[in-house]
Amino acid sequence: MKLGQIGEFGLIARFKEKVFRPEKRVVVGIGDDAAAVRVSSKQLLLLTTDILVEGVHFDRRLQSFWQIGWRAMVANVSDIAAMGGLPSFALVSICLPQTISIEQAEEIYDGMQAVADEHHFQIVGGDTVSSPRDVVISIGLSGDVEEKSLVTRGGARTGDLICVTGELGGSQAGLAMLQLANSDQKSNFASLPQAEWSIVRDRHLRPQPRLKEARLLAQSGQVHAMIDVSDGLAGEVGHIAEQSCVGAEIYREKIPVGSQTQRVARHLGLSVLEFVLHGGEDFELIFTISPAKAAGVIEKVRQKTETPISIIGEVLPAGEGIVLVSPQGNREPLLTEGYRHF
Ligand code: ADP
Ligand code: MG
Repeated sequence: MKLGQIGEFGLIARFKEKVFRPEKRVVVGIGDDAAAVRVSSKQLLLLTTDILVEGVHFDRRLQSFWQIGWRAMVANVSDIAAMGGLPSFALVSICLPQTISIEQAEEIYDGMQAVADEHHFQIVGGDTVSSPRDVVISIGLSGDVEEKSLVTRGGARTGDLICVTGELGGSQAGLAMLQLANSDQKSNFASLPQAEWSIVRDRHLRPQPRLKEARLLAQSGQVHAMIDVSDGLAGEVGHIAEQSCVGAEIYREKIPVGSQTQRVARHLGLSVLEFVLHGGEDFELIFTISPAKAAGVIEKVRQKTETPISIIGEVLPAGEGIVLVSPQGNREPLLTEGYRHF
């Protein structure tokens, strides 16, 4: 059978079946943003890893080596944040072709270290090998979380509100513009001045993990489920629904989209909704919370971080599926597939 027939998540499910062994210390195994294992009666160790492959996750013509390093590390920090934890130690494995200079290799490290400095954790090891052609960066990151602050994808309850931090779709809009700027249709690109899309460009090139927001949400004790957006809103809501055995409705007009994202989509003749639902790595947080607690928690996060939080939907019983609701009240099934690796 070909990989394309079962896809990334079908394959992961098969791996999971092979490797699963009951073990008391594993509080969260395969299937969440990070694994959580018990290290003491109150503390859990979080473990996550992410791999970035040239030509799949990044393009040297569009991004600097510093930016590639930054982004590789942010993807991991974002997964630790989504569990409610704080990052602690990183291991970095890197495959480099002969064509890369020492300076370029060091730039990747400067980008990764900038994230580590900003979020107070350390790179403590890794592995370095040669690659026939492409750059590959694989980072493993640990984190710490008190058991009472742990938030998984699996705790959403029917009636919860579905919320998201910040804005969605910006990273994909930035990528689309960067690709255009690098293509033979440069003239179309030049008609939208740089300043008009600097925010979305930076959303793609220098994404920020929502670590502080995640900690506040987790420590409130009120958030039932949480995930970071690394694969588009639809796929992430799908993961929460699957792990929590619930359905969901998302109100289309409530999804927060920045004005630059809207403008870029218009300029390129592309769908903003496509950027948001199936686009790339905004690294925002999606979480669910009971309606009675939502306003207080949202206000507290806004006061402490200035990050707005939008209520974009509601958790439904499993039988209702996952639906997108239009402003007129039309309901259509939401395709929950994110980026297709196979
Ligand atoms: P995220 O997008 O949050 O990084 P992924 O979709 O990459 O999460 O992974 C989903 C879950 O599957 C995670 O728990 C991850 O650890 C697990 N997983 C992914 N690939 C493998 C693999 N090859 N072997 C074991 N577990 C895996
Ligand atoms: Mg994740």
